[in-house]
Amino acid sequence: MSASQPPESLSPETLVVSLGRPDKSPDAPVNVPVVLSSTFHAGGPVAYARTSNPTWEALETVVGALEGGRALAFASGMGGISAVLDLVPSGGVVVVSSHSYSGVAARLRDLEAAGRVVVRLAPVHDAESVVASCAGADLLWIETPTNPAMEVCDLAAVAAAARELGVLTVCDNTFAGPLLQRPIEHGVDIVVHSATKSLAGHSDVLMGIVVTTDDDYHQRLLRTRTLVGAIPGPFEAYLALRGIRTLALRVRQSQASAMELALRLQAHPAVVKVRYPGLPDDPGHAIASKQMSGFGAIVAFETIGTPDDAEACCDAVRLITHATSLGGVETLVERRRRWPEERPDIPETLIRLSVGIEDVDDLWRDLDRALTTIL
Ligand SMILES: *Cc1c(COP(=O)(O)O)cnc(C)c1O
Repeated sequence: MSASQPPESLSPETLVVSLGRPDKSPDAPVNVPVVLSSTFHAGGPVAYARTSNPTWEALETVVGALEGGRALAFASGMGGISAVLDLVPSGGVVVVSSHSYSGVAARLRDLEAAGRVVVRLAPVHDAESVVASCAGADLLWIETPTNPAMEVCDLAAVAAAARELGVLTVCDNTFAGPLLQRPIEHGVDIVVHSATKSLAGHSDVLMGIVVTTDDDYHQRLLRTRTLVGAIPGPFEAYLALRGIRTLALRVRQSQASAMELALRLQAHPAVVKVRYPGLPDDPGHAIASKQMSGFGAIVAFETIGTPDDAEACCDAVRLITHATSLGGVETLVERRRRWPEERPDIPETLIRLSVGIEDVDDLWRDLDRALTTIL
């Protein structure tokens, strides 16, 4: 699966379609097959399917090229994230965004409670403060924009400072995705994705991807994946790859609608605050404009009234779906604080809107009507 691969100088919008396919020989399939085999004929480097699988490899080829490194697929985003956290030496210090994904925060709390790591929280939108927290640290965990507060981190500034201090930097790029933000180009060492979200894009699969340019980290992550066994199923890898084929179109449509909905939400009497880095007056707008080629499909907004009012608004949508997760073709809303794991300083009425690819006016009519029920 290499001889007839197109050159990587092609646009990412082309690469999502053309990479990770079988060689173009007569009667070869156009798509990578779902390879269902737990073992392989002796004599090759793989030998057993906990090490690798041709269907995963096709997916890894595509995401690796998009991010500019070598990719490894995992059973879920958290599977990949856990493998990366395993790189921290025993007793090591992890600096993490005070508003990172709730699963990452919970896992770090557990590791800290077990004496495995020491955790330092830093406000990710404040590069100076992040850098100040990095002295003597082993790993810096960044998310930008953050889930769900939509804060933006200056990737180049913190990655350069962390490198000087010898701190390994990791960026969870799930929210922006590789078509809008390439953290490795800004100096980040390792990129992680919940491919469950916009990469796979159809809310039908869980998968994680970890990308790095560093051979040593790649080998250590591969070893962890093989020995811990958080490996994706071949069919899941096929679905994720099939989803990625339309990533460029989905991103284009959903982020255009997200911008439009963010503007309309700002003007809605039931909304007190909107966070979307594409809004010119958003605190993250200047840095996002510098490091992202688009602002993505996720909008956070706070409603007037009580948490119950916000919850009622989520229950009142009809076309939109009230459900957790994000990045799919269908638009979802959720009040994040309904989860006990969510950070206590995330506002109680904050609703995360993951914008899909439906018609924007249909979406707005539904959202407007649901919001109006709490006025
Ligand atoms: C969903 C999510 C994860 C976890 O990924 P899973 O595939 O659910 O394990 C990690 N980071 C972010 C930003 C996410 O949104």
